[in-house]
Amino acid sequence: MTSGTRPRAACLIGWPAAHSRSPLIHHYWLRTLGIEGGYVIEAVPPDEFGDFVLRLSIRGFVGANVTIPHKERALALSKPDQRARAVGAANTLWFQDGELCSTNTDVEGFVNNLDAGVPGWDKATDALVLGAGGAARAVVFGLIERGIQRVHLANRTMARARALADQFGARVLPVAWEAIGDLLPRAGLLVNTTSLGMHGQPALELNVGLLPAEAVVADLVYVPLETPLLAASRARGLRTADGLGMLLHQAVRGFELWFGQRPQVTSELRALIEADLTHA
Ligand code: NAP
Repeated sequence: MTSGTRPRAACLIGWPAAHSRSPLIHHYWLRTLGIEGGYVIEAVPPDEFGDFVLRLSIRGFVGANVTIPHKERALALSKPDQRARAVGAANTLWFQDGELCSTNTDVEGFVNNLDAGVPGWDKATDALVLGAGGAARAVVFGLIERGIQRVHLANRTMARARALADQFGARVLPVAWEAIGDLLPRAGLLVNTTSLGMHGQPALELNVGLLPAEAVVADLVYVPLETPLLAASRARGLRTADGLGMLLHQAVRGFELWFGQRPQVTSELRALIEADLTHA
């Protein structure tokens, strides 16, 4: 079979080959949009990643998602867009005019999930972001791109918050982890990008009662689906956005780049992934 007649296929490159929901998501869209194509997981050790990516097209792939531990290498081996460069990591690869390009779709996954679920969230002038890891970089970049005036950044390791603020400029204000309680009353948007609240991790201890009544609370953690932070925020009547929504929205762009149609995040897709998470 020649590559011209072969169905288009993308893959997820990681090491080890962790359980991922991406095949379920992309297979759902391929099926519902009636596109003949595929999406597979490729376990590629770090010392083989460069060769794998250089031969991506020869291997029959139109593009790929990249996950731990390859995201920084993927950036270096491709032509990154502004988002991938700002985040310092690429999670999506595709070919444009024969050139391997990359982006980081966590940025739009975060922002589009908020737009879909909590419209008007960007009226907040002050956002409080907890955490300064890889996910925080995508969130902070998205907030700045969207015009949020002040992004207060609290991290257990203050030096990482400072480093991130140095990179993103004066609108990002590093704060000590102990100062979270002081900032809550003026946070129109609170985002947890730490792993606190995840199954097997300690809970995120903070008093959502201190947030303004119109505040929006977003949690990137999606196992469990309803984290203690989201549960407490909903109990207080605050609007919330969960991590599963971000995961689904970040997958849209890759699919569009590889298969040529922009898919929808439907309630049916969400229910499918929720069921998989619940039975995992
Ligand atoms: P990461 O780079 O390893 O960063 C982890 C962050 O959590 C760091 O800021 C770390 O602080 C903080 N942290 C860990 N344990 C802590 C504790 N006991 N107390 C206070 N802070 C603690 O991880 P990441 O890639 O940014 O991912 C973070 C979370 O976001 C994970 O739960 C991941 O599943 C989730 N995520 C979700 C999506 C989505 O689509 N929903 C996308 C990306 C990530 P230090 O700097 O002090 O270590």
